[in-house]
Amino acid sequence: MHRRIVAHGTQGWFASLAGMARVPVRDDLRALEGYHSPQVEVRVRLNTNESPESPPRAWSDAFTAEVARIEWHRYPDRAATALRTAIGGLHGVGPENVFAANGSNEVLQTLLLTYAGAGRRVATFEPTYQLHAHIARLTGATVVEGERRDDFTLDPAEAERLLRAHEPHVTFVCSPNNPTGVVEPEATVRKVIDLAPGLVVVDEAYAQFSDWSALDLLDEDRPMAVVRTFSKTWSMAAARLGYVVAPTWVVAELEKVILPYHLDTAKQIAGRLAVGFVDDMNARVRHVVSERERIANALAAMPVQQWRSGANFILFRPTDRPGRDVWQGLLDRSVLIRDCSGWPRLAGCLRVTVGTAAENDEFIAALQEVLGS
Ligand SMILES: *Cc1c(COP(=O)(O)O)cnc(C)c1O
Repeated sequence: MHRRIVAHGTQGWFASLAGMARVPVRDDLRALEGYHSPQVEVRVRLNTNESPESPPRAWSDAFTAEVARIEWHRYPDRAATALRTAIGGLHGVGPENVFAANGSNEVLQTLLLTYAGAGRRVATFEPTYQLHAHIARLTGATVVEGERRDDFTLDPAEAERLLRAHEPHVTFVCSPNNPTGVVEPEATVRKVIDLAPGLVVVDEAYAQFSDWSALDLLDEDRPMAVVRTFSKTWSMAAARLGYVVAPTWVVAELEKVILPYHLDTAKQIAGRLAVGFVDDMNARVRHVVSERERIANALAAMPVQQWRSGANFILFRPTDRPGRDVWQGLLDRSVLIRDCSGWPRLAGCLRVTVGTAAENDEFIAALQEVLGS
C-alpha cells in the first residue's frame, strides 16, 4: 500500500509513481492546511463578517431585469470595462486603475501570483487575515512574519526591522485588521510604504467602517495597491466580487496573469448596478457602526477584554473562562461566532460579527448567560 517515493531525478520519480492510485502533491504543499470557516446551521450567524442586511430591493429588481437579457452563448466582456469604470467612479480614478476579480481573495491571489511566487518573500504582521500568508505560500513564496504590539497595532520599528532583514517583494497591511478590528494610523501605513522595497498591499475589506482610507495615498509612482470587496459593506458576499485600486502598471500586469473571461456577465452586471446604490450602502454601514458601539458598550460591562474596532466585528477575550467554552456555550444557544481561541497570538479570543439589532440582542443575552453561569 505505502510505497516509499524516492524522488531523485525525473526518471526515478516516474518509475516510482507508475501505477499508483494517488499521486503526491507539490512538496511545498504537503505541510499546508486548508482554510476553514465552519458553516453550521444556527439561528444567529455572526461568524464571517457578512452584512446582516440584503442589498436594496431596487438593486435586485434591476439585476433580474438585466440578467434576463444576457446573451448566454457569448463570452462576457473580458476587460469588464463598464464594471471597472463604475468602480473607478467611486474613487475618482479611471478603469485603468481598477482590477476586479471573484472576491478580493482572487484579487489577492492574482497580486501574489504576479509579485510573489517561488523564490520571493511576502511579509505579514501577525495576527492578521490568514489568507494573506496562506495564498502567498500557495504561490510558492516564503512568508516572513512580523509581530504586532500587545494592543495589536503595528509597531513601525518592528516593521522597519522586518523589512530591512527580509526585503520582501510583497508587504501586507490590513486596516482595519481582521481578526482584531484595529485601524492603523495613517502615519504608520505611510511609514511602511516608505520603507518597503516591494509592493505594499493594503487590504481594506472593512475600510468603510473606519475613519480613513489608504486610497488617499495612491499614486502612479508609489508601489502600493488598495484591495476592497463587495462581500462586507456592499451586502454581496454571494456575488464573489472584489477589486484593487492601483497604479496602471500594476493593473496591466494583473491582467496578464488572470484567466481570460474570469468575471462572468451576471457578476459584472451585479457589481456595476450595485455602485449606483452607494448611498444605501453607506446608510447600512452607519447602522452597523452604531450597533457595533452598542455591542462594545455591553461587552464593557462583562468580564471580557475587548479591542477597539473600526470594522463590523469585535474581538474579545473572556477573562474568567476559557474562550473555547464560551464559544461552545453560545453555540449551544444557537449563536455562532468565530472561535479564534486556538490561533497563534490570540489565545482565548473570540470574534463576533455585528448582526441585525435583534441578532445582537440575542448574542448579548446569550453571552451574559454563558459568562454568568
Ligand atoms: C472578508 C475579507 C476579505 C474578503 O474576501 P472576499 O473574497 O472578497 O469575500 C478580504 N480580506 C479580508 C481582511 C477579509 O476579512
